[in-house]
Amino acid sequence: MDLLKELQGCRRILLTGHIRPDGDCIGSVMGLYMYLKKAMKDAVIIPMIEKPAPEFGCIRDIDMIQSDFKSDITEFDAFIGLDSSSSDRYGEALKYFDSAKKRIIIDHHVSNDGFGDVCCIDPEASSTCELLLGLMDEKLLDKDIAVAIYIGIIHDTGVLRFSNVKPETLNACAKLISYGFDYPRIIDETYYEKTRIQNEMLGRALVESIMFMDGKCIVSKIDQDTMDFYGATPHDLEGIVNQLKNTKGVEVAIFMYELAPQSYKVSLRSSGNVDVSKIAKFYNGGGHVRAAGFSMNGTFHDVVNNLSDSIAMQLN
Ligand code: AMP
Ligand code: MN
Ligand code: MN
Repeated sequence: MDLLKELQGCRRILLTGHIRPDGDCIGSVMGLYMYLKKAMKDAVIIPMIEKPAPEFGCIRDIDMIQSDFKSDITEFDAFIGLDSSSSDRYGEALKYFDSAKKRIIIDHHVSNDGFGDVCCIDPEASSTCELLLGLMDEKLLDKDIAVAIYIGIIHDTGVLRFSNVKPETLNACAKLISYGFDYPRIIDETYYEKTRIQNEMLGRALVESIMFMDGKCIVSKIDQDTMDFYGATPHDLEGIVNQLKNTKGVEVAIFMYELAPQSYKVSLRSSGNVDVSKIAKFYNGGGHVRAAGFSMNGTFHDVVNNLSDSIAMQLN
């Protein structure tokens, strides 16, 4: 995809990503925002996602994000959707999708079947940010754009640790850090540092976790009343599933939290042979081979029972 060519003549551009935005979503939206501001000086560019968590304050212009953007513009010349495998995860921005003159999809989810007018989807890319970097003209890159893109790669690879890291990923990071920013500080501030509440939630989830299938699976949950007691938000629960997955012998980790009574957001992580994107897609979610998610109605036990069957089919 020649991104700037695709955008030629576009004057009003909406950039968005998925609900409950993670580092890759925020990094790709902000990296592309800063890039297009330089490349297309006359265009109006609106970055529209939910308000990012405070640790992303190190990204320049992060305050330009318009979470509740409302305007008379009913038709955008281009709608660019980043890091989301389906339009139903665009949240508030979805209302501008159908009327946009051109819908451009940039994503790396294996579950993305290409629902735009122009699509750049590469499940081999570690992150949308890595993919996006490949679409950018190097002459327009700068330190601020590099920081945003770097954050996306770092977050989606668990700090360059997961199996989605390829030589291209490390080459991309080498190029990015050559812009000279304080990357150890950025990794600590945006990825490792946890608030007291976040650590308390992690502790609860680990202590209350249950192992099953001969120790190959682990599951834990946080209910709404626990979240209310600690004053925790869904953002405070990010990363718990990865820590569960770190348990020795575990091939599949499941973490879920209550969205509403009898309704759970489920996160899956795997190693070995289990493809969790297939399981998530079956339950109308999506993701990657080793990291995927979905929402499901029912009790905790209903969810675990359903998942046990799906996992058992792949484990055996
Ligand atoms: P999470 O478990 O929420 O950290 O998500 C793991 C991966 O699966 C991420 O790449 C998400 O974008 C994707 N994912 C999570 N939930 C859903 C969903 N309901 N639909 C599609 N993809 C999802
Ligand atoms: Mn994401
Ligand atoms: Mn991603």
